[in-house]
Amino acid sequence: MSAATAPTAAAGSPNPPADLQRLARRLPKVLLHEHLDGGLRVATLLALLRARGLAAPAEDEEALAAWFDARAHAGSLEEYLRGFALTVAAMATPEALERVAFEAAEDARAEGCVLAEFRIAPLLFEPHGIPGEVAVAALLAGLSRSALPSGLIVCAMRHESDTQIGRAADLALQFHAQPEQAGTARVVGFDLAGPEAGWPATRHAALLARVRAGGLGLTLHAGEADAGEQVLEAVRLGAQRIGHGVRLADLLDAPGANQALAVLRRQQVHLEICPTSNLHTGAAASLALHPIHALWRAGVSLSFHTDNQLMSRLDHSAEAANLLRAGFSGSDLLRMGLEAAEASFLPEAARQVAADALQVWAHQEGLTPTRR
Ligand SMILES: [Zn+2]
Repeated sequence: MSAATAPTAAAGSPNPPADLQRLARRLPKVLLHEHLDGGLRVATLLALLRARGLAAPAEDEEALAAWFDARAHAGSLEEYLRGFALTVAAMATPEALERVAFEAAEDARAEGCVLAEFRIAPLLFEPHGIPGEVAVAALLAGLSRSALPSGLIVCAMRHESDTQIGRAADLALQFHAQPEQAGTARVVGFDLAGPEAGWPATRHAALLARVRAGGLGLTLHAGEADAGEQVLEAVRLGAQRIGHGVRLADLLDAPGANQALAVLRRQQVHLEICPTSNLHTGAAASLALHPIHALWRAGVSLSFHTDNQLMSRLDHSAEAANLLRAGFSGSDLLRMGLEAAEASFLPEAARQVAADALQVWAHQEGLTPTRR
């Protein structure tokens, strides 16, 4: 398996070699983990701040991108989160929410994405005067304007009150229950985001069971800032997918690792890994040392995602190129895409179209997905 090979000498240079970048760009992508309030275009953010009469921390696009870059590398979660306060304030009109969702889908499509799920906590806009229902409707309208097959995951923030978390779940269920229409994006899942340590998902066991019973997909941020056991706990709570889950790698050499891996396989749990984001929040030291290598070797179903494209100054092709440079092969990334398509919360037909696109591309490139 190529992931086991040592990183190349180029690993220290700022950009992956051009041939890897070209392969990464051609690869069809399946995007499962991207926050809409962490992924908007710099130009759009600047325009929205000006339109709302809000102060921008920098006056032009390059300087504003650099401002986010500095927050991402500050090694402080507090600094990192300052960026979100800015984007949420800028996005707090129905028109802005629709625009940001549309542009996110179009940008993903331009990166070769064939299926996407975007996420956001709609209740973050209520202090700015936008009711949750209005926010979700505007976001779905924006996603539906793009030709990219996509869906929305409603997040609740772990540090909010039980009442607020319950309201976010109700909102997700209410929109999910609306009749399906061809070419229209829907709410497909629910997620607990925000600070992990000290805010256990177990507190919300009954609510999460209700979410699953209502037909929503369940993904939980776990094992990013807290221990690997939290990943197993999230699975016990019904999560089909885990946001990050990288600390699970700490358990691979511990007693009971085989049982844990067997549970993940039996329940077809998929990890949405965001390697560069993990470097920025301190969850991993480098891509060469990132736990994705060990998890992949252990046979865990996983794929790679961007998390917050604005904050990390990243796109999906760049992240694919980073992984190719870190020792993964095109066949590995192909397999990750197929596993992501299988784990998507979108309807079967959309998942099949995405998987077919990956297989057609593999055939054209003379690649075979890595056997697992
Ligand atoms: Zn995330």
